[in-house]
Amino acid sequence: MPEAHGTGTLAERYDAVRARIPAHVTLVAVSKTRSVEEIQALYDLGHRAFGENYPQELQRKYQELPKDIEWHFIGHLQTNKVKMIASFVHLVHAVDSERLLSEIGKRAAACGRTVDILLQAHIAREESKHGLQIDGLRELIRNWDAGSLPHVRLRGLMGMATLTDDEALIRSEFATLAGIFKAVKSDRKDPAFDTLSMGMSDDLGFAIAEGSTLVRVGSAIFGPRTSKAT
Ligand SMILES: *Cc1c(COP(=O)(O)O)cnc(C)c1O
Repeated sequence: MPEAHGTGTLAERYDAVRARIPAHVTLVAVSKTRSVEEIQALYDLGHRAFGENYPQELQRKYQELPKDIEWHFIGHLQTNKVKMIASFVHLVHAVDSERLLSEIGKRAAACGRTVDILLQAHIAREESKHGLQIDGLRELIRNWDAGSLPHVRLRGLMGMATLTDDEALIRSEFATLAGIFKAVKSDRKDPAFDTLSMGMSDDLGFAIAEGSTLVRVGSAIFGPRTSKAT
């Protein structure tokens, strides 16, 4: 199932990935560990949405690259790092605690902006993956008091499947998350709740089949990463 990453030119890999993604699904190019030159090259092909995992790295790239890039923060965000990205981040994908939420609210207010976020659901078998357990996620959404967080906008959910060759397991984890997404969406009746971030290079086909609206793709576009993500 995983396709061979890293063959062809950047433009060829980018086109091949785009050909697999329907028009209603957003493609975020995951550029962690990539140089500003590599990002600029994809930007020059017309791409604008990039995803990063580390606040310092994102802050530096934001300063060096064109200002019309939409920067997605897709990694685990520590509370004390929110201030590094709050003034410009487009969407924070992996919010998994009330503490982090209120810090984002505070920093967004200080910059005079509203920050869009996704809540991260723990759907994988691995213990190590971050994210809210399903019950905690449901409760946090139930208790969501827009009045107390006027500078944070809940846009949807994000999740990562287990790293496995078991396609049935990957699909069922994505289906679980999509089911929760649909239920919350019909409960909230908020048109802004419209984003389901699931799918990466090796499982984006399954994610899209199960209802993903945004895929986060790194190695299938940029080639294999040399330094390992954490
Ligand atoms: C690194 C990363 C990706 C992209 O992974 P690829 O396998 O390179 O496509 C997607 N989502 C998150 C949260 C990541 O950390």
